Amino acid sequence: MLLGIVKESATGEARVALLPESLKPLLAQGIKVTVESGAGIAAGASDEAYSAAGATVSADRAAILAEADVLPVVNASAAADQAQLKPGAVVVGFLKPLDAIEALLTAIDRPATLFSMELVPRISRAQSMDALSSMATVAGYKAVITAADRLPRMFPMLMTAAGTVPPAHVFVIGAGVAGLQAIATARRLGAVVEAYDVRAAAGEQVRSLGAKFLDVDLGGINTEGGGGYAAELTEEALDRGRDLITKTAAHSDLVITTALVPGRPAPRLIRRAAVEAMRPGSVLVDLAAPAGGNCELTKPGVTQTVGGVTLLAPLNLAAEVPADASALYARNILNFLALIVKKGEITIDLSDEVLAGACVSHDGKPVNPRVAKILESRAAPLAR
Ligand code: NAD
Repeated sequence: MLLGIVKESATGEARVALLPESLKPLLAQGIKVTVESGAGIAAGASDEAYSAAGATVSADRAAILAEADVLPVVNASAAADQAQLKPGAVVVGFLKPLDAIEALLTAIDRPATLFSMELVPRISRAQSMDALSSMATVAGYKAVITAADRLPRMFPMLMTAAGTVPPAHVFVIGAGVAGLQAIATARRLGAVVEAYDVRAAAGEQVRSLGAKFLDVDLGGINTEGGGGYAAELTEEALDRGRDLITKTAAHSDLVITTALVPGRPAPRLIRRAAVEAMRPGSVLVDLAAPAGGNCELTKPGVTQTVGGVTLLAPLNLAAEVPADASALYARNILNFLALIVKKGEITIDLSDEVLAGACVSHDGKPVNPRVAKILESRAAPLAR
């Protein structure tokens, strides 16, 4: 069996699906690993390191695509690459099947078996495969570091002979995985941190990190949508949050916003007026930009200055910490591969809820019901 690792082709993508140190358990099963030359360079893994770990390094991308039985990837590759896949090959990665199924059709038709890391069910058994949480952790950290670099002030309170430097005030909206890591990072740098989330359960976690949790009276409505996620709120409830955000942003040097509701566009929580009320020099990082953004001024992927406030809307912040992001991702991938590669052989048991949940398509047919629905709705207009 051959496992292939190709260089990621998406613009700005510096991560790699597996690092040299990830290869040992695969090679021990007699699996051959071929890595495209340069695949790990941006993540700090040289061709020599892959060779030393026991992989073959090759410049022939087409041959790797055509011969690999398993291809762990970070992002889906382009249609031209997919057209070269070996029929029956297994591709595992952030394939975005719910956002961009069209971009996977060539691979589905090969047919390749596609597993999407975004669709791995977030159940206890699959926690070690939760790549979304891994990347949210990295993004939460990097949001603070990126903003710290832009801020015209320091984070910690300093008492010097020249007087006292006050601490920076950071406001984090959405205290899920990314938000909690942003809070922890800002606290480590010495900032005073406030945070808001609609889920009351987040309050305890926020306080345990030494930050202040801001409560909003939402009239006792249910804010939990199941699985630990937020529910979609009414406009009235959202407005109460927006008022609190406008008030808190006005005295914050940095606002990091991460609020998401699964399967929905990001809630619009930050009004133009809230950005205009922020002091010049302050920074807003909208980590919800890939889902449209939490701020009504956000243009995903674009950095803007609005009245002296820098508004960042990064689309792939985890890729800006490629070594650690790849290391975490590689562990998630290895844990996932352990479900489908046993003793050097591929065995796909779709009665396993983790595999069935993550499987986009097998033998040319959709498996995950949400993917099936998207494919059906896509087929309908064509049939007319
Ligand atoms: P997420 O990315 O979907 O959302 C980020 C945060 O935004 C959440 O905390 C959510 O409550 C908050 N939010 C949504 N709408 C909001 C609004 N209108 N105003 C303010 N905040 C709003 O969530 P996530 O970070 O992936 O995870 C959230 C929770 O899910 C975790 O804290 C955890 O309890 C659970 N979780 C479980 C697993 C697992 O079991 N494997 C893995 C990851 C997360």
